[in-house]
Amino acid sequence: MLNKEEKLKKIQDIKKEYGEDLLILAHHYQNNDIVSLADYTGDSLKLAKYAQENKKAKYVVFCGVHFMAETADILTEDWQKVLLPAGGAGCPMADMANLAEAETAWEVLKIEFDKDLLPVTYVNSRADIKAFCGSKGGSTVTSGNAPKVMEWALSQNKIVLFLPDRHLGENTAYELGIEPKNMAIYNRKTQKVEYECPKEDVRIVLWDGYCHVHHAITVKHIEQARNSLPEAKIIVHPECPFDVVRAADGYGSTEYLINTVKNAPAGSSWVVGTESNLVARVKAQNTDKQVYILDTHSVCTNMNKTNLDNLLETLEDIKNNNFSKQVKVSKDIAEDAVKSLDTMLELC
Ligand code: SF4
Repeated sequence: MLNKEEKLKKIQDIKKEYGEDLLILAHHYQNNDIVSLADYTGDSLKLAKYAQENKKAKYVVFCGVHFMAETADILTEDWQKVLLPAGGAGCPMADMANLAEAETAWEVLKIEFDKDLLPVTYVNSRADIKAFCGSKGGSTVTSGNAPKVMEWALSQNKIVLFLPDRHLGENTAYELGIEPKNMAIYNRKTQKVEYECPKEDVRIVLWDGYCHVHHAITVKHIEQARNSLPEAKIIVHPECPFDVVRAADGYGSTEYLINTVKNAPAGSSWVVGTESNLVARVKAQNTDKQVYILDTHSVCTNMNKTNLDNLLETLEDIKNNNFSKQVKVSKDIAEDAVKSLDTMLELC
């Protein structure tokens, strides 16, 4: 049984041995050990771009969750292998929308509104949902570029179907001037669309999915933080519910949260509503400020499934020509999925 230092050393040795043939990417929500070993750390958009731009690495080890490795596989060349160290690292939100459900919803919405539809999906979605969007002229978005892509979608005078995160969809559409009363919800279970305004006033239909990590953050957490830390500013991720985002002092993507604290004056206080590994790192990197987490339960168990053991195992597998951890998106899905990713990358 190796101790932590021995595992770190072995991983670093394999990295050195493989040089540019090996690329390790880590999402911001990974733990510090994994981040310390990564060639690049970033949010999903940054990592997607790193994967797409790298034309040297034969092996891309993606320390994150399954949909991210799928995206990397879609954007890399056929000769590049993408591997996910923690096989069971899925994303419950991505799993809240599958192709069959999306196709059913499409038919329901066509009948309900009798108007052209345009699908837009958060990159935190399965490859077949990205392909669904790509095949219908739609796009992906990240939390960082959602307003830009949504503006493009809304300008087409079609009803936008936003999958799978209702909160990101609602927060972004509101930022662009759409009132909540003009947003409908698609209920996956009943296969019905719910809205209160006249049908012709519906601008966007929100899929009823959510990220449990951010969905669990409430206005009560904000009120408690304001009471105990009245001098602190509160910033949250747009995967948080609408009323939480409205009650906060600011909101934005992971990069926004990082940079807002980084660029703040020394001595200022910040309460950050997002995943705990990220908040802990922001705190450690800003020792001249006070940084607190809004909800101490904001833990993504799936992001935490990557560890030194399965990372080392993945690298040793590569040495042994064992690619059982490879994530491969089938050609027909990849062909349509890349269209929705390219639309986003061209717009942003
Ligand atoms: S933090 Fe939320 S959206 Fe991200 S992987 Fe975890 S469950 Fe999915």
